[in-house]
Amino acid sequence: MRRKLAAGNWKMNGTAADLAEVEGICKAHKGAGVDILICPPATLLSRLTDAAGDVIATGGQDCHAKDSGAHTGDIAAGMLADAGATYVILGHSERREDHEETDQDVREKAKAALAAGLKVVICVGESLEEREAANTLDIISGQLAGSIPDAVTGETLVVAYEPIWAIGTGKIPTLDQIGEVHDFIRARLEERFGAGVGRSTRILYGGSVKPGNAAEIFAVSNVDGALVGGASLKAADFSPIISAL
Ligand code: 13P
Repeated sequence: MRRKLAAGNWKMNGTAADLAEVEGICKAHKGAGVDILICPPATLLSRLTDAAGDVIATGGQDCHAKDSGAHTGDIAAGMLADAGATYVILGHSERREDHEETDQDVREKAKAALAAGLKVVICVGESLEEREAANTLDIISGQLAGSIPDAVTGETLVVAYEPIWAIGTGKIPTLDQIGEVHDFIRARLEERFGAGVGRSTRILYGGSVKPGNAAEIFAVSNVDGALVGGASLKAADFSPIISAL
């Protein structure tokens, strides 16, 4: 059985004042039987980990492929772990776009993260242009093959399907479209890693997940949870999404 996972990606949002939101989520979901993850900006990681106790896991939003060195502004996977992270999001479309990250870059970062003992949330997803050209599954297939390193297990790998056109737009794919891509990802994982890893890896949906649409998305086959952006910033929004798992 795959444990459900509600993951929040705070992106470039949040200061110390927002730690109160975390305390609210901890109170509401202690012992809930699902996994909860928040990936704040690195500046908050250590304090948020303290506030999260054993109710919420924390993660980074990116890491460097190297362990240390002259890379101003970058953060190594081991530093995230040192600050309390147990996960790291890699290959988010905003990283792929804003920082021109390639599948190969994501794979190298993922290797470094796994070596540092972190679990990886590897993001894949098509643009609107690619969907309209009926290239979605080809794009996803290429990203999975290129971005995921060989040495993953069902415990250390999470895949997040985030259609780029659904991020922050209020638009979501139809439930059939979500199901098609999640079934496809499951099949690709089973093909490459075997049934054990393929069936135990969690596949999250991300892109405009809100309290009002979470339950119907979670009912789709092979959807094991969500990677939530905007609606993860406030306990009043994130909490009902966690409850819908
Ligand atoms: P939104 O939930 O704000 O659409 O963002 C999704 C996302 O990019 C999570 O990584």
